[in-house]
Amino acid sequence: MSDKRTADAIIVGGGVHGAAAAYYLKKAGVKDVVLFEKEYLSSGGSGRSAAGLRQHFGTEVNCRLAKYNLECFPTLEEELGGEHKLEFAQWGYLWVAYSQESMTQLEKNVKLQQSLDIPSETLSPQEMKRRWSYLNVDGMIGAAFCGKDGHINPHALTMAYGRAAEKLGAKVLTYSPVDKLLASGNKITGVVAKGEEWSAPRVLLTAGPWSTPLAATIGLDLPVTAERHNLLVTEPIEPFNCPMTLCLDDGAYFKQVPNGSFFFGRDDQDEPKTMESGNSAKFLEGVTKSVLQRIPFLKGVRIVHQWSGPYDVTPDHQAIIDWTPVEGLWTNCGWSGHGLQFGPSGGRLAKEMFFGEKTFVDIHNFRLSRFAEGDLFPEPAFI
Ligand SMILES: Cc1cc2nc3c(=O)[nH]c(=O)nc-3n(C[C@H](O)[C@H](O)[C@H](O)COP(=O)(O)OP(=O)(O)OC[C@H]3O[C@@H](n4cnc5c(N)ncnc54)[C@H](O)[C@@H]3O)c2cc1C
Repeated sequence: MSDKRTADAIIVGGGVHGAAAAYYLKKAGVKDVVLFEKEYLSSGGSGRSAAGLRQHFGTEVNCRLAKYNLECFPTLEEELGGEHKLEFAQWGYLWVAYSQESMTQLEKNVKLQQSLDIPSETLSPQEMKRRWSYLNVDGMIGAAFCGKDGHINPHALTMAYGRAAEKLGAKVLTYSPVDKLLASGNKITGVVAKGEEWSAPRVLLTAGPWSTPLAATIGLDLPVTAERHNLLVTEPIEPFNCPMTLCLDDGAYFKQVPNGSFFFGRDDQDEPKTMESGNSAKFLEGVTKSVLQRIPFLKGVRIVHQWSGPYDVTPDHQAIIDWTPVEGLWTNCGWSGHGLQFGPSGGRLAKEMFFGEKTFVDIHNFRLSRFAEGDLFPEPAFI
């Protein structure tokens, strides 16, 4: 890396997608890669995520990418140097349905997953009770389950990608906000970061919901908005066989992480549409009620922490992975509530796009122009 403020590729945003892209680009031999992060790596949605890993999606492209992610995770800690313990655990992921409509959707998703060799299955309430006796299955119609899904530590994952990229020679500049993008005519030329100009022929936007104001600095409109989502963390209790359990009907979920703590989360559309963090008591009350109804066993376990972070939401809850109309500028953002786990596939796609290679999965449906064309591509398995 020279001292000059030039690069072959600049990456804006040090969440899991920016850090993974830096790693994949360096691993493929790109010479000068510079990643700008306005705070610390994983300080955005990535570090605030529940970090559930799943192959349960209802669109083929997400299933294929999710399958690749799950192929990477078992050996990723070692691949990235072993400095960061990723806490990868395959405790499974369970989607429960209380309405026939939700169950019909889960069945459809599972059929698609099975056609792609994803080992998911549908379960009756009786079967759920047999496998997880602590579950209160009253009112449940059924569920979808994949035992290969699970959990990872989101900070460690992001840091591990960033560190591995650095070791390969990437410049990872934390506490270095990009003030604006730079373009000349219809071509990207670089960025201004902390008042200094950096030039590069290629710039990748992986700034989550902040991608929208950044793109606007060169007049580009991205339909990515922020939604605040909260999470509760309990004191640790003895780990037991508890898959991440999520209800499609009310968007509430719970999971145990390897240190024994439980995470509780819930979709609450009354939360402010903001990138700023902040907590609400309404969330705390609502999520506790939903979760304890499903796992009464946790009554009395103390809540020790509540945090929030932004989802970067698009109108169809699908990512935007595409070259923009500004030559040299490409995006990987808009992952809504499921982007953490797509770090490996997002990084690989960034590298393939950089080199103009055929992408390993067809990502046509993630194109930016779908919004202007009115050709949305909704993901049915989102919260
Ligand atoms: C409560 C919650 C629960 C979630 N649960 C899950 C889950 O179970 N599974 C899952 O897969 N996903 C989950 N997600 C979603 C997931 O966190 C995101 O989809 C994913 O982390 C997005 O990663 P990213 O790298 O694209 O963006 P981010 O992690 O948001 O990274 C963007 C980065 O850009 C930086 N940035 C912003 N502006 C600038 C600037 N001007 N200059 C430089 N840097 C800048 C930010 O500081 C930030 O670090 C959850 C999210 C939340 C909030």
